[in-house]
Amino acid sequence: MTTSYRGRFAPSPTGPLHFGSLMAAVGSYLQARSQGGQWFVRIEDLDPPREVPGAADDILRTLEAFGFEWDGEVMYQSRRHAAYEAALEKLRRDGTLYACACTRREIADSSVNGIEGPVYPGTCRGGLQPGRNARAWRVRVDGAVVEFDDLLQGRQRSALATDIGDFVVKRADGFFAYQLAVVVDDAEAGITEVVRGADLLHSTPRQIHLQRLLGLPTPRYLHLPVVLNEQGEKLSKQTYAAPVDRANPLPALCWALELLGQLPPSPLHDGGLEDFWRWAMQNWSVAAVQRKSDVALGE
Ligand code: GLU
Repeated sequence: MTTSYRGRFAPSPTGPLHFGSLMAAVGSYLQARSQGGQWFVRIEDLDPPREVPGAADDILRTLEAFGFEWDGEVMYQSRRHAAYEAALEKLRRDGTLYACACTRREIADSSVNGIEGPVYPGTCRGGLQPGRNARAWRVRVDGAVVEFDDLLQGRQRSALATDIGDFVVKRADGFFAYQLAVVVDDAEAGITEVVRGADLLHSTPRQIHLQRLLGLPTPRYLHLPVVLNEQGEKLSKQTYAAPVDRANPLPALCWALELLGQLPPSPLHDGGLEDFWRWAMQNWSVAAVQRKSDVALGE
């Protein structure tokens, strides 16, 4: 059975695959494969200062060892700069892009807080002040109010002007922003449904706004709960989450499945990877996933 479903997993190569990312990989893979869909891998190597040499290959080897099988070639964001530049050019032509000279400090001093820190006060929206140079490039949000139905978290609504403000699509250090790249790449890969961690739920309205400005389709979204450690922190390299063990995939896979609300029978723990994936694909149920933005490791 094949369908037109196209899903993806998009790790950033900032370190080896840890358990939090594994959960997102498992959820997006099962959501795709249980529907006979395709599943793609994209390495989000967009931010060289945060990257660890060798991490991209290490992540791919881990995915293989865990029995994930992706379709087609792996996409690398580091090779897609021309596509991002073309998207910026379209925004520029349409008058929704502007250069911004403000420093972080200036923005912090003159702004109110939104859902993710300071809302840009619009200082450079009407043009740069004399003698100031462009640092970053921002996109106008104007009066955009974005609503969408997350397949797990339910109806979402964001008034971008008060929640986020005009946001950066090309950074002051010259790198493209995640929000822009993800939209251009999901469209290029024809992704029909984005399944990822709920830590990115707040990014989705910005991405839908960009899709509209760029004339790109909006995929469906499903944001899985993210796993928190004993201190209540999201697992990430910053919280010293241990990499998953490539030599012993089944315990981590079974645990990920359980935290995603699925109830694998205990023999799965002792069987092979093939048995694991067969059971998981046949029994995957979104309805069983907890409708929360996070779950604790011990749950
Ligand atoms: N690269 C992002 C991360 O590792 C995920 C981006 C996405 O799934 O849209 O957190």
